[in-house]
Amino acid sequence: MPETRPARLPMHTYDENLADMVFAYMRERLQLDPVPLDHPGVKDKLDRTLDGLLGADGNDPADVLALYADHLAPAVISCDSPRFLSFIPAAPTKAALLFDMVVSSASLQGISWLEAAGAVAAENQVLRLIADLAGLPEGAGGCFVSGGSAGNLSALVVARDTGARRRLAEGYVPSGPWRVAVSDQAHSSIGNTLRIMGVDALVVPTADHRLTGAAVRAALAADPDPRSVVGVVATAGTTNAGIVDDLAGVGAVADEYDLWFHVDGAYGGAGLFAPSVRAKYDGIERADSFVVDPHKWLFAPFDCAALVYRQPALARGVHTQDASYLDVLHTDAAEEWNPTDYAYHLTRRARGLPLWFSLAVHGTDAYRDAIEAALTLARDTARLIRETPHLELIREPELSAVLFRRRGWSAEDYHAWSQRLLAGQIGFVTPTGWEGETVARFAFLHPGTTPEMVREMLDTMA
Ligand SMILES: *Cc1c(COP(=O)(O)O)cnc(C)c1O
Repeated sequence: MPETRPARLPMHTYDENLADMVFAYMRERLQLDPVPLDHPGVKDKLDRTLDGLLGADGNDPADVLALYADHLAPAVISCDSPRFLSFIPAAPTKAALLFDMVVSSASLQGISWLEAAGAVAAENQVLRLIADLAGLPEGAGGCFVSGGSAGNLSALVVARDTGARRRLAEGYVPSGPWRVAVSDQAHSSIGNTLRIMGVDALVVPTADHRLTGAAVRAALAADPDPRSVVGVVATAGTTNAGIVDDLAGVGAVADEYDLWFHVDGAYGGAGLFAPSVRAKYDGIERADSFVVDPHKWLFAPFDCAALVYRQPALARGVHTQDASYLDVLHTDAAEEWNPTDYAYHLTRRARGLPLWFSLAVHGTDAYRDAIEAALTLARDTARLIRETPHLELIREPELSAVLFRRRGWSAEDYHAWSQRLLAGQIGFVTPTGWEGETVARFAFLHPGTTPEMVREMLDTMA
């Protein structure tokens, strides 16, 4: 080590130089406009870079930060680049990103009212706003969890336990596992969740990829043991195609058959903010539980999912952990709200706060406009595709995902095209599957994605 470098301070001491270095890096990262896409990593190269770094003695922080900035960060494809149109992109606001650093620095333990009332009150303000948009009643509430997967799992455990309790109280005894009705289009995390829970799926076939109340009713009517079904899951915006299920119809069937009605809006739930699509969500107000991922289309940093229950007491009954050292968290105080009681977790980051800060700073109109911008771009792109002879639109976009074909292309052509786009830093657009065929898909979300960028990407398919 060069001797000119300042001596390292003891581990928990504030180090002005280190702080300046990290803040400088953050300033630079936050100001990148546009954020470069960057590249996939090469394992050997990354291993060589990291080799020997972690040992008994530390390293100069400047060297470690430089190693990150020069070698690791560029080997991460930036999902907040406006040219990232794969999977579900990210576009956190600067306000949310900055406040995320505040949350980190403040070591908030978002577990309980006792420890973090200030943070929990602010998170609950956001949950209330989301509940109001969905039309859920006064009294609805929940917590922020790490993602849609964690939200779906936490909600469906409550669905199963609540449903099972009701059925058993009625004298019904199942001959096998409890079941939950799901669409054949449900997100992979739903199937995963049911496997983890030991719950079977009653898979309801869809016509045109959209779950309807009629289809759920028909499946239950044809089933030899419908009372073993205790819940139903609808999707408010499928991840692949952005299709919103018939929430009103499914909710009505849930009432008829006494099923827990869970709505997975991890991606599409943000559309509740957008007047141009709000009517598609009619019926969501019937949900017993609802998930939306602010780290997707509500412009929050990773990781942040909002989980809201119509009757939070039911979730509390299922998720509250019983341990002597936690007894003090649970008093009879009416205002007490322990986020830990509403999901499968104990310790938790107050991960709703970056969204709270950004919403408070920008106001909900700015969110509405940013979400509408992605919807408009999807509609304009669909028109452009329809007008381009060698391209074929697969379906009108309902939300911000656009599926289309390049006439005459094989699966290999799509994959080669995707790699060319990334190598040229023009876009990151991975192909997807649709009815057994490989096709192209744009997922819009980033307000910085322009029609010119889209045209540039489409031109490479000529
Ligand atoms: C993204 C997504 C999930 C999973 O959410 P994570 O935050 O990735 O865990 C679940 N359901 C739908 C519809 C999604 O789009």
